[in-house]
Amino acid sequence: MLYQRSSQLFEAAAHVIPGGVNSPVRAFKAVGGTPIFVKRAKGAYLYDEDGNQLIDYINSWGPMILGHAHQPVIDAITERAKLGTSFGMPTELETQIAELALSMVPNIDKIRFVNSGTEACMSAIRLARGFTNRDKIIKFAGCYHGHSDSFLIQAGSGASTFGSPNSPGVTQGTAKDTLLADYNDIDNVRALFASNPNQIAAVIIEPVAGNMGCIPPMDGFLEQLKHVCQESGALLIFDEVMTGFRLAKGGAQELYKVYSDIVCFGKVIGGGLPVGAFAARNEIMNYLAPVGPVYQAGTLSGNPLAMAAGLAMLQEINGDSDLFARLEAKTAYLQKGIDEVLTQNNVVFTINRVGSMISVHFDASPVTDFKSAKKGDNETFKKFFHGLLNEGIYIAPSAYETWFITDALTYEDLDTTIKAVRKVAASL
Ligand SMILES: *Cc1c(COP(=O)(O)O)cnc(C)c1O
Repeated sequence: MLYQRSSQLFEAAAHVIPGGVNSPVRAFKAVGGTPIFVKRAKGAYLYDEDGNQLIDYINSWGPMILGHAHQPVIDAITERAKLGTSFGMPTELETQIAELALSMVPNIDKIRFVNSGTEACMSAIRLARGFTNRDKIIKFAGCYHGHSDSFLIQAGSGASTFGSPNSPGVTQGTAKDTLLADYNDIDNVRALFASNPNQIAAVIIEPVAGNMGCIPPMDGFLEQLKHVCQESGALLIFDEVMTGFRLAKGGAQELYKVYSDIVCFGKVIGGGLPVGAFAARNEIMNYLAPVGPVYQAGTLSGNPLAMAAGLAMLQEINGDSDLFARLEAKTAYLQKGIDEVLTQNNVVFTINRVGSMISVHFDASPVTDFKSAKKGDNETFKKFFHGLLNEGIYIAPSAYETWFITDALTYEDLDTTIKAVRKVAASL
């Protein structure tokens, strides 16, 4: 496939936008080459500026669970736009989407809408700190909670008790309040609680990790985490920005029957427009301004276009009792196909999957945390990525990303994909 126009557009973009992109994951830094510029998308397909058609396995990094330009969502946005696009005053829509979200997700009484997953997680830890009157938080290496300062800390070299800033611009003061644990390692979490008595406000986790490939929680891990938090008076925060309204109507809480104190949303909840949200029981949410002392605000929060898109999306999901079974079946079919083809070609790999989140790792050992995710062979991944791209299959340009399966994919698309994997596998 030719990417001449994409290359030209990227060159022009790089003159006026750092790295030519407005979010680093869009650049092809991990795989080489230049990013593809999209012209339009419909259903399971992207159409780029060079006229190529691609089967899309990123789906805007999660939101387009029903496929691109899903008609009810597009209609809702279009109709709403005619009435004005922002008022900075309440609208009935905000109550409607709040009521629907609360009815779909277990264990939450109130929800506050923001503009991104980053804002949701950032606000959730502020709320947890205000509520518990403690400063420190625990996060897990390899988990992503958006780009606010407190979260830009990762394990780096060894499991240090105090995080060191892993992005310039994050102060030591901020970094020292973020403690790092290894995913699926409850003893590690217990040790952090023991060495920081009465100081930990919250543990934040992706209940199914999706930002180091897809990594499921081991049996009992989320329950144990909940127990440790309860014992110590810390809040448990589930970052369901990726898993919310994707793994089940009620997200990972519904799937694993473990209930967190605060839940963060993003991606699917906005139907493809910029939306995030965080939710909890009344006791916690009433700590927020204007009812309580913890400040949190936004000029465009609850924006009518964004709320209309999100509401239409949630209505579609809520009204389709078969959706999650279909997504599960399609993704399992894809997994089986890829598994067979890679095995036949003697490729060393591991596939992880939970529902419609799936990732292929080029290493033989189980991928259960960030350390094991990093063992994957990046050279093989690069060949895999470009090979598939050449066949018209678009997966995320990084070995640490999950593929997001959309309901718009047909079994014919999945067969096309498996066939492409067969072709590429022979050259890995
Ligand atoms: C994408 C993501 C975020 C950040 O959301 P943005 O809308 O990109 O700010 C936070 N947490 C998780 C788990 C995510 O996948």
